[in-house]
Amino acid sequence: SGRAIVFIDELDAVGRTRNTNMPNAATDESDRTLNALLVEMDGFAQSQVIVLGATNRPEVLDSALLRMGRFDRKITFTPPDRAGREKILLLATRDLPLADDVDLGAISRRTASLTGADLHFLANEAALSAAREQLTIVSQSHFNKAVEVTFLGRARTSLEVSDAERRIVAWHEAGHAVAASVLPNADKPVSVSTIPRGGAGGVTWMENDDRHFVTRSRALASLTVALAGRAGEMVLVEDDFTSGAANDLRVAAN
Ligand code: ZN
Repeated sequence: SGRAIVFIDELDAVGRTRNTNMPNAATDESDRTLNALLVEMDGFAQSQVIVLGATNRPEVLDSALLRMGRFDRKITFTPPDRAGREKILLLATRDLPLADDVDLGAISRRTASLTGADLHFLANEAALSAAREQLTIVSQSHFNKAVEVTFLGRARTSLEVSDAERRIVAWHEAGHAVAASVLPNADKPVSVSTIPRGGAGGVTWMENDDRHFVTRSRALASLTVALAGRAGEMVLVEDDFTSGAANDLRVAAN
């Protein structure tokens, strides 16, 4: 009966603002696609066809696409909140054999800002991590590793780190962790690692819940926690400092 829903993903790939100043083969091709799309959509007016388009970059879309009768309604999807993340994790781990200690609620509290796709990646990463240990059951520790991989990238286990370097990193991270656990307004530390990732020597992982604003007391606690890494390494090296501390100072200044 002519009813259909047409869904176009990555709409910006064909619906980008037409550039009349710089004609070249690539934009000609894109213009033709866009024109054809617009003509078709005008033809849908009398029919029962709904056209949906998805994009991460609504600002680059051609204004002709957004006119009445075309893509004239916008629905914005924001990353899911804590409850939404828990439901997505439930779905993403549906087919995984989970250990009793797996706490999806706890994972959802540590994954503010992650999207549905990120959470699926995270669940898959946890399963891979269990498989690497030749285990058939996925436990909380695998999820903890997967959270770190999702936010920070894989650990650089092949990198040679001297004992002296590792000791400084340990004291530095301990400084962050201790400050975060004793300050009542600080985000609580979840795990500490001295394994290098990306450019960082180590990382102290904090609980991070959805937050819509920062209070003064919370900001002060964050400042203290940021600078506590340097305070920790001063126990070992008083007359020198690390690039990690310099980076913390930058974060604190921000
Ligand atoms: Zn630090």
